[in-house]
Amino acid sequence: MIQTPYYLIDKSALRRNLEKIAQVRALSGAKVLLALKCFATWSVFDLMREYMDGTTSSSLFEVRLGRERFGGETQAYSVAWSDAEIDQAVSLADKIIFNSIGQLERFADKASGIARGLRLNPRVSVSGFDIADPARPFSRLGEHDVEKIASVLDRVDGFMIHNNCENEDFDLFDRLLGQIEERFGALFHKVRWISLGGGIHFTGAGYPIEKFCERLRRFSERFDVQVYLEPGEAAITETTTLEVTVLDTLFNGKHLAVVDSSIEAHMLDLLIYRESAHIAPNQGPHEYMVCGKSCLAGDVFGTFRFPRPLQVGDRLSIQDAAGYTMVKKNWFNGVQMPSIVIRELDGSIRPVREFSFADFQASLS
Ligand SMILES: *Cc1c(COP(=O)(O)O)cnc(C)c1O
Repeated sequence: MIQTPYYLIDKSALRRNLEKIAQVRALSGAKVLLALKCFATWSVFDLMREYMDGTTSSSLFEVRLGRERFGGETQAYSVAWSDAEIDQAVSLADKIIFNSIGQLERFADKASGIARGLRLNPRVSVSGFDIADPARPFSRLGEHDVEKIASVLDRVDGFMIHNNCENEDFDLFDRLLGQIEERFGALFHKVRWISLGGGIHFTGAGYPIEKFCERLRRFSERFDVQVYLEPGEAAITETTTLEVTVLDTLFNGKHLAVVDSSIEAHMLDLLIYRESAHIAPNQGPHEYMVCGKSCLAGDVFGTFRFPRPLQVGDRLSIQDAAGYTMVKKNWFNGVQMPSIVIRELDGSIRPVREFSFADFQASLS
């Protein structure tokens, strides 16, 4: 038996998403790059690279991980490159996207040997959260002024726009893309590739993949550009659980269960976005608030229903623990870091990483 806590990645579930990605590539002609900032667990890249064209990044380290562990096309993006990073980023990448005209002007010459792009900010977006909205007022994410962008077209051959976030509504995507075409269409005719970023939930159940692909193909033909998509969450959604064990139960107006994990350390986005975790099937007469073992008072996974009263030693599976989860885990409170375990396509279980006191100690000095 594998000691909890651990993240359990199910390769069969992953392959389901990847097959939809392959379908989108075939039907739309788009190239699809994995956004490493969402998911960078490289032990499953062997499967992912069969279905995706490469990776995109948000830092030098991600560029390097993409090049060394994933392969294919390595797209480099960062909100701001430093003088110390730029040469290595250019040497590792097939193409580099600058976030601003300032960065482009600063580093265009150093990057002249590879494809160069600029991030555009269309000032329209889908996001339920201000903190995650690239089009929020005063946003630093990309250039919006068409005239200014036109003045640097001699130094770029493509654009990147990322303005969707968990958008599962095709009509909304379609409308936003229409607004983007209206704003930037004249510029689009002058480049060779356009990345539409991530945040499109096209692997979700019921998403109209054929309509989506037709829209992408129409966009690509209208401007004569290679379209790219940069899914993070859509690539790995519903593939991974966080396996935990109940360590204690208490009653304080509600039944409480404390588990051997922590949202602050192991599922940080629940805290940032004030969301509840998911447990399936979440049915039965016994209700518990499932809590983490850190000392943060609000370290709560959520309130769930169970068929039987929870007891010390019971195992729980927290759903959907792949995206923005493993990449954000941290050593707060010195809580045992979850191991990483893979369920292979044949059903066998393979632990690929365990973390020890030495890792905790080595994370500081
Ligand atoms: C975050 C991000 C992505 C991936 O977004 P998902 O919502 O995980 O699909 C892709 N491209 C850029 C530029 C991003 O910032």
